[in-house]
Amino acid sequence: MIAIPLSDDSLPGKLNCSTCLLPMQYQTKKDGKFLWQCFKCGKQLLISSENSAYVEEYWSPPR
Ligand SMILES: [Zn+2]
Repeated sequence: MIAIPLSDDSLPGKLNCSTCLLPMQYQTKKDGKFLWQCFKCGKQLLISSENSAYVEEYWSPPR
């Protein structure tokens, strides 16, 4: 039996952009969610700190 360590307060270690498959960069904590961003395509992910399965995707508009 293998236990998967879960910590409510820890960041996800690493995220890859689902579009570019490049590592995303952690930005900040916002409204109880962790904001990650891909600097290549501008995709942003908001991940709930209470439920890491809850993910929102955003695209920052190009400037
Ligand atoms: Zn990307």
